[in-house]
Amino acid sequence: MVHEAQETTQSLKVIDEARQGSVLYKEEWEKTASVGAKRFYIESYGCQMNFNDSEIVAAILYEAGYLPTRQLEESDLILINTCSIREKAEETVRKRLRVFEAVKRRRPGTLVGVLGCMAERLKKRFLEEEKLIDLVVGPDAYRDLPNLIRGAESGQRMVNVLLSREETYADISPVRLDSNGVTAFISIMRGCDNMCSFCVVPFTRGRERSRDPFSIVAEAQDLFMRGYREVTLLGQNVDSYKWQNPETGSIVNFAQLLEMVAQIHPRLRVRFSTSHPKDMTDEVLYTMARYDNICKYIHLPVQSGNSRILALMNRTYDRPWYEERIRAIRRILPDAAVSTDIIAGFCTETEEEHQDTLSLIEWANFSMAYMFAYSQRPGTLAARRYKDDVPEEVKKRRLNEIIRLQTAISLRHNQADIGKTFEVLIEGDSRRSDCDFCGRNSQNKMVVFPKKEGYKPGDYVYVRIHDATSATLRGEIV
Ligand code: SF4
Repeated sequence: MVHEAQETTQSLKVIDEARQGSVLYKEEWEKTASVGAKRFYIESYGCQMNFNDSEIVAAILYEAGYLPTRQLEESDLILINTCSIREKAEETVRKRLRVFEAVKRRRPGTLVGVLGCMAERLKKRFLEEEKLIDLVVGPDAYRDLPNLIRGAESGQRMVNVLLSREETYADISPVRLDSNGVTAFISIMRGCDNMCSFCVVPFTRGRERSRDPFSIVAEAQDLFMRGYREVTLLGQNVDSYKWQNPETGSIVNFAQLLEMVAQIHPRLRVRFSTSHPKDMTDEVLYTMARYDNICKYIHLPVQSGNSRILALMNRTYDRPWYEERIRAIRRILPDAAVSTDIIAGFCTETEEEHQDTLSLIEWANFSMAYMFAYSQRPGTLAARRYKDDVPEEVKKRRLNEIIRLQTAISLRHNQADIGKTFEVLIEGDSRRSDCDFCGRNSQNKMVVFPKKEGYKPGDYVYVRIHDATSATLRGEIV
């Protein structure tokens, strides 16, 4: 599972990066727009994979003559890239559709399209449930968008939710949306062959397929040439990345891909997400140890600290296996930080089994974690086989205990960095004050520090830490 990112509306400096590799601002866009180009507005929800898909959609629409707008009221095409991972994510989408409905009443010609996992999960039913929708497009059907739009413009309501065993969009260079010009995501594979019993992803994103490694390296090289200094390789389970050369039959696995990207340039940082405890090899860890520019951070979801629950979740590993993987990381990468995912209150989870999750969190010393209460998803193995029998108030109480414990551990983890000096990549202004820069260290910790003459986003600086909260390190450039 790749992680939740904030929802955003797409900024305008994107298109011309794709077209000319340079940044063109609003006034020049206005000039271009006045020659009648149609405009699209896109909102993205859910994981980084979805945000990266929106960048692929932007490139496809741009080729079809569309330009982006941030203004809902001036868009000819409204798109929402949806998430289906929890009930709440779908509720958010329904609320946004009400807003689009009002726009459509004021501008009847406007088309509304739903993309992503909720579109794939609901398929044609989405049209029946939501009369305003003109297009329902699944994650593997974005190439068909121009054709579907033409159909919708002629008054039809269009659906394409075919899942593919080949599609990786490898030949499409994403248009960087809402980019800070320093960090970017690169999808290396699509789909997932694991069948975790609580998860919709295998049903909404299909079977696993790995992208041609040379197209990944080319995309990373192009980003580096354009001033980006960090790429994050994305996959539901990057450790099962496996590409076979159709000519030679030779195989490229994740450790080899990681090395290929790390060799592009020592000043290009490499991150990846998400790892899977079952497939994460020592070969990957030794490759990380060999390259300073491969960041010393691993996101390794555990989900539960109890082996019986892990079996019910069909995670294909048990608690001792997970602990052995953590020990391997500590042995081979002593400076690495590890984060995780936790689900509280899964079907039939007892109080003792919940205590097992708390004790694992205490033992593993994660730098941070994504923590959620179990949300039953229609069509999943768990929904079909197990009763969602842990009462909501018990789920909530267990989740709060997990959050309280992990927040204390994250604070302890960050306080242990006070007095240390880290190399930080400046990503931009701190959200709180434009007198401060923010950026992350190799361990993926956010560092905030006062600006200093002569430094700008994209620069590497050394920052000595003098303070910490559970979420942020504070320091100064040395
Ligand atoms: S099935 Fe499991 S591994 Fe695959 S995306 Fe879902 S949670 Fe992650």
